[in-house]
Amino acid sequence: MQMANMAQLSSTLRVSAPLLLGFILLIICQFGWANTTQNVPLRLTSSSITKIDLQDWIYINHSPNISQLTKVLEQAPSAWKKFDTAQPQHIGVKNYWVTFSIYNPEDYLSRIIAIDNPLLDSIVIYHFINGELVSAQQMGDSLPFKQRPLLSNIFLYPVEFQPGDTHKFYIKIDSLGSINLPLVLWSSNDLTQVIETKNLYIGLQIGLLTAISLFSFFIALASRSFSYSYYSAYVLGLTILTASIHGVSFRYLWPQWPIMQQYIFSIIIPLTLGFSLMFTEKALQLKYHNLKMLRICRVMAVIAFLLAIIMPFLHYSSALYILVFVVLTMSTILVAFSLIQAFIGQRNATLYAVGRIALLLGCIITGLLYVGIINLDVAPQIPTMIGLTFEVVTMAAVLALRYNDERKAKFKIQQQALEQAQRIREVREEALHAEAENSEKLEQMVQERTLELEITLRELNEVNQKLTEQNTIDSLTGVKNRSAFDRRLIAEGRISRRQQTPMALLMVDIDKFKSINDQYGHLAGDHSIQTIAQVLSDILKRPTDLVSRFGGEEFAIILPSTDAEGAQQVAEQIRQTISEQEITHNGQHIPLTVSIGVSADIIDSDEHPMLLLEQADKALYQAKRSGRNKVCYYALKADQI
Ligand code: GH3
Ligand code: MG
Ligand code: MG
Repeated sequence: MQMANMAQLSSTLRVSAPLLLGFILLIICQFGWANTTQNVPLRLTSSSITKIDLQDWIYINHSPNISQLTKVLEQAPSAWKKFDTAQPQHIGVKNYWVTFSIYNPEDYLSRIIAIDNPLLDSIVIYHFINGELVSAQQMGDSLPFKQRPLLSNIFLYPVEFQPGDTHKFYIKIDSLGSINLPLVLWSSNDLTQVIETKNLYIGLQIGLLTAISLFSFFIALASRSFSYSYYSAYVLGLTILTASIHGVSFRYLWPQWPIMQQYIFSIIIPLTLGFSLMFTEKALQLKYHNLKMLRICRVMAVIAFLLAIIMPFLHYSSALYILVFVVLTMSTILVAFSLIQAFIGQRNATLYAVGRIALLLGCIITGLLYVGIINLDVAPQIPTMIGLTFEVVTMAAVLALRYNDERKAKFKIQQQALEQAQRIREVREEALHAEAENSEKLEQMVQERTLELEITLRELNEVNQKLTEQNTIDSLTGVKNRSAFDRRLIAEGRISRRQQTPMALLMVDIDKFKSINDQYGHLAGDHSIQTIAQVLSDILKRPTDLVSRFGGEEFAIILPSTDAEGAQQVAEQIRQTISEQEITHNGQHIPLTVSIGVSADIIDSDEHPMLLLEQADKALYQAKRSGRNKVCYYALKADQI
């Protein structure tokens, strides 16, 4: 088994808990300490292989109290024990002394000693040539990066070999972290090639993780999805972790701050774990499937984040032990959760479990390769790297599926909402349509009713007009009645007064009518009255003239714009026409005459029309007195006719 591989095993231990199983396997398979033997030097010639694992020539002396070279040199040979690959590994050592010798009999050779564990805190290499101390080189990640003799992620120490020289090295190691010591003697050409290949793999892994993390971050931003942001943080944590394990982050991110090397793992591991838990909660959709698991997940996440705060204050070695325990426990719980959910039939959980189990398998194979139980033609860390990559990609798929599920659900809800909105719109349109139809009908009905009403109103008006007209007509004769006369008298009086035109009144009374009634009967009397009314209407041609039955067998006539003379002429014409009129009733001739009183004047006051009427009446009386069948004009002077 190779030391270099052990360093990587230790490194991957921090990546994920399943790796710890490999670690545990490793411990189980290891036993015992090596026996003490003589310090045999490595014989190096130009024909030696260009990559020599120094582990077979290494002697160790773990004396925590001896920190000085002189003290170590004073120790008895029995204090040094040959290094055994099966020796259990430690976390945290102080004054861990390592020694080996290289003898070069005949060639000029240039070699590089590589310590392939970039996390060792402090390394001091005491270099003796032929028993003489020529150099004491200090290295380790507790020193700024630039102080390394060769700038590389791992620790390199170049050595020039002269013919016949024996080089002896004492290396003192102090480290709080894992004390893996993969010591290899390289020719510079081979080392360059190997480092190039290795860096390519590391770069590939870091690049892949960075890309996935960034991609998830942008998806989280674009979709405002928490699960993607947790996943992004989780993968970012893995990226920093991987970069730190390989010494890349120290070299490129914080070369001036070796102190970061002391804290980075104890902070980044619980943080990554915390985000892994938060992401798992979302990926397994525990909120919908299992509230108990959700609560446990959240409590574990809180613990993880608290650990990230507490860890830096703890002793580094204790912190690592606690972290190993916590990561192992929580990861096991997560795998159990995902298996339970997968068993219930949750598709995402199945995929999640597949991813986690793949990582676990990768780690187990790595572990088995390390301890030599199986033998494959690949570097032992490769299965873990494949498992990790597979896990990260699977988780991305889980998230994508979950995101798609959510998108579909959202789309479905939107569709339903749209359909509902459409239905509401249709119903509203129908209602509007019905309303429009109704209002149209209503309008039509109103129009019909209005028309009917208008017709009725018009008819009513006509009837009313007729009624009014009938009110002004005397029923027996068909001429105007007394009330029509009275109104007209006032109206014509106003016109006369305004226009200063004369107005004449005629009072016509049938002579001796009582005797006609008596002689011929009342019906003959009525007929006579009708005949005289007809005669009066026929004689008076002017439209403004008014004939009215004043009462009984008396008629009153208004002649507007007529002076006394004209009025007397009209009156005379009336008297004459009637006296010559042939009136017969039931074959009997009825002789009839009338007496007429005339008055005329320009009206000058409101009372004047009534006065004029009285005057006409007086004139009529005069006509009666003077023998009947006469026309009398009322003279103004002293009431003389
Ligand atoms: P005089 O020449 O003085 O006017 O004599 P007279 O008989 O006409 O007298 P008076 O005017 O007093 O009488 C009117 C009579 O006319 C009374 C009534 O019998 C009659 N008389 C009034 N109105 C009507 C009517 O509507 N129909 C008929 N048949 N007779 C009427
Ligand atoms: Mg009379
Ligand atoms: Mg009379």
